[in-house]
Amino acid sequence: MAVEESSEAEELKEARRYMKIRDIIEQRGNSLSFEFFPPKTQEAETQLFDAIKRLEIFRPSFVSVTYGAGGGTRKTTRRVVEHIMLETSLTPMPHLTCIGQSEDELKAILRDYQQLGIENILALRGDPPRETAWSPADDGHCHATDLVRLARSFDGLSIGVAVYPEGHVEAPSLETDMFYTKQKIEAGADFAITQMFFDNRFFYDFMERAEKAGIRIPVIAGIMPITDIGKMKQFCQTCGSTLPSSLVRRMETAGSPGEVARIGIDFATRQCEDLWQHGVRFFHFYTLNRAEAVTEVLHNSSLEGLLGETSEEDLTSSILVT
Ligand SMILES: Cc1cc2nc3c(=O)[nH]c(=O)nc-3n(C[C@H](O)[C@H](O)[C@H](O)COP(=O)(O)OP(=O)(O)OC[C@H]3O[C@@H](n4cnc5c(N)ncnc54)[C@H](O)[C@@H]3O)c2cc1C
Repeated sequence: MAVEESSEAEELKEARRYMKIRDIIEQRGNSLSFEFFPPKTQEAETQLFDAIKRLEIFRPSFVSVTYGAGGGTRKTTRRVVEHIMLETSLTPMPHLTCIGQSEDELKAILRDYQQLGIENILALRGDPPRETAWSPADDGHCHATDLVRLARSFDGLSIGVAVYPEGHVEAPSLETDMFYTKQKIEAGADFAITQMFFDNRFFYDFMERAEKAGIRIPVIAGIMPITDIGKMKQFCQTCGSTLPSSLVRRMETAGSPGEVARIGIDFATRQCEDLWQHGVRFFHFYTLNRAEAVTEVLHNSSLEGLLGETSEEDLTSSILVT
């Protein structure tokens, strides 16, 4: 009996892993996901794999792995994705950027992922490198829409795209940005993940504008629990997300890094609760390859239903090991 049960559990694991995100979201009626980036050292890789293992207890809908624009992390992104496929019960979604890569290179990457059993991809443009002069490859793709179209030509991939509650930094207006966002989605996206935001009003406003524009796919809210305010200020300057000045002030006058993290975790907890109360059911956490902050946010916030399958025992043990 025990053997039957465990093989049934294995089958369930398998079935879950090889699912398209659009179907997982539809089946669950909600979504929880975690984002990781490819590590640069052996030590960082060990830390990442440990974080993935710890976050597995939350039974996320999927986990995603970022990609260095231009192909800089091509091998490492693939290695992390393969690890997730082989060593965990999770559904991995690689990010892929089209900037600076030829159509042939992109096709080879997509073909390789399909052979690995990957069913989901986040199609992005990526950012040109700031340090060096940059020009697109001769047959290069310049916008995420081009990659969405290319990925759509691969049978059976479920495709996600990035969207920007505050507008993309390069966009001349919110209207222009929404116009291209809609175009990108109509090219064949099944779901979207937002850039991080810290004031929920940006998200509510974006959703209203998206609704008016006729966008109907699930939009997953990107949440970043801040643990290092210096780094986050730099990052937000680049990506255009607004940090509330009162939050920055509190963090900059905090007495220790631990206190900064506590303020960041409390802030993200309240942010998620407010989203949940406003009917938001799709959450994507930027983990920075660490489990602690996200675990605390999920443990402290009352997102009933989102953690439906996670037992109290699992949660408590996860808090204890962090
Ligand atoms: C959830 C998420 C995950 C990310 N993961 C990664 C990652 O793994 N690796 C990475 O390098 N970066 C990543 N990024 C960052 C992303 O690559 C940058 O924000 C990039 O500047 C834009 O990418 P995009 O796919 O949104 O581009 P696009 O959708 O192409 O949009 C870029 C800009 O071009 C405009 N635009 C779009 N189409 C047209 C058109 N036809 N004509 C004129 N203008 C147009 C848009 O309005 C926008 O201003 C991520 C961002 C998010 C939100």
